[in-house]
Amino acid sequence: MTLPIRLYNSLTKSVETFSPVHDGIVRMYSCGPTVYDTAHIGNLRAFIAADTLQRTLRTIGGYDVRWVMNVTDIDDKTIDGSARGSVRWKEDMGPQTGDALVDLRTFTMYFERLFKADIQAVGIRQDHFFAMPRATDYIKDMQELILDIVRHGVGYVSDGSVYFSTSAYRNLELPDGRRATYGRIFQIDEEHFREGVRIDADEYDRESVSDFVLWKGRKGQEPYWDFEVDGQNVPGRPGWHIECSAMSKVLLGLPFDIHTGGVDLRFPHHEDELAQCTAGYHSHDQAMFWFHNEFLEVEGRKMSKSLGNFFVLSDLVQRGLDPLDIRYAMMSAHYRSVYNFTFENVSAMAKGRRRIQETIWKLIEHGASRDGEKQYHSDVPSIASVFERFADDLHTPTAMSELYGYVSSVDVVMNTMSDSERNAALADLSRVNDVVAVWSFDARPTHSIPARIQQLADERWAARSAKNWAESDRLRDVLAAEGWSVKDGAAGYVLEPRS
Ligand SMILES: [Zn+2]
Repeated sequence: MTLPIRLYNSLTKSVETFSPVHDGIVRMYSCGPTVYDTAHIGNLRAFIAADTLQRTLRTIGGYDVRWVMNVTDIDDKTIDGSARGSVRWKEDMGPQTGDALVDLRTFTMYFERLFKADIQAVGIRQDHFFAMPRATDYIKDMQELILDIVRHGVGYVSDGSVYFSTSAYRNLELPDGRRATYGRIFQIDEEHFREGVRIDADEYDRESVSDFVLWKGRKGQEPYWDFEVDGQNVPGRPGWHIECSAMSKVLLGLPFDIHTGGVDLRFPHHEDELAQCTAGYHSHDQAMFWFHNEFLEVEGRKMSKSLGNFFVLSDLVQRGLDPLDIRYAMMSAHYRSVYNFTFENVSAMAKGRRRIQETIWKLIEHGASRDGEKQYHSDVPSIASVFERFADDLHTPTAMSELYGYVSSVDVVMNTMSDSERNAALADLSRVNDVVAVWSFDARPTHSIPARIQQLADERWAARSAKNWAESDRLRDVLAAEGWSVKDGAAGYVLEPRS
């Protein structure tokens, strides 16, 4: 059973029924990490939102999804971080060589590995990616796009760099007769256009539109590539925006279906990506749908290092949080609302997650199988209502409340269900998990018990069997102090970590 998927589109500022350019296939591009540091939880929210979207398209929409997420391994920040003598170079990266390109690769690969481990920990599967291209592997394609932009009269060389002319762009007529427009994703008032003003930085203020850099002339010992434009060699490296335009076109073709990113990327990054594709490739659209998630706050405030509320995933794991609880907690806010991260919220959501996990384990312990014969129980509501909420612009908060209703009704009738009714419930929950990705469908784990604890428990069982109640009780207290509880049965005992 598949459902039509409705999505808010930043291009049209409305919720639309999604349909892909090519039947059955969704080509989707997500602006990925800049690998100069560890991703913070605000970044992770964007990647989890994109993952929830692509899982919804697969599981509920029935599409084959080609998901591309780029890795920005060259920009102002990665170059700065990898420069010889930079304070950010970490001991365990190995030695710096002094070769700018080699050091850049060593530095960025280190953070790329950390990034991949982080996204895996929050339930994003490596095999769901069609590609995770690194910008430095696509320099030739970026240069070709820049040459096309220059050839179409929208790019020019100045002081050894190449710039995009916003005024030429706004007068550009495409071969199909349409006029290029700057500000299709993010509304910009006429007074904010600064014609002829050039901006070199990869990130710039959100107040005005200026000519932005396509190719940055080499400075000092920076890594560089040779590049001939208009008969002159301009050694340098790509600007940040051109990376996504070229890689998305090469890997997905234009126009592709969905482009994702945080709201902060709408301008200038996404406007510039789109303008470059229009000017260079003469494609009026880069993507048909633009999907943007809202910010994350921590305890009601903007996350910042100076406020001491700036978290990367490993900070939270050290505080005892489970990365999958964090993923699940983010479902408590709609992706187009600000998500207020609080420890109370994660802990409340973790309880809800465990409750559903408990139902899954009970079904498995009753012998349920996802592949077995299925029959629907009359007292259990259809799981379709959960999927309908996801299909409605990923309305995760209401999807979760529908899900709790479903699980409660399964719990009520669990013991009186037939085998095929339990199979159906387990299969339903498994399909929900294909989107939510936080539950285990393996048997309940037997905890790994330290040898010392095992020995104490064996001694207690021996004392109990010998009816030495005082010693048995003493050892029970020792185990409790170590964080273990013992449940006795007729044939033996079960050791469990105390919750
Ligand atoms: Zn991008």
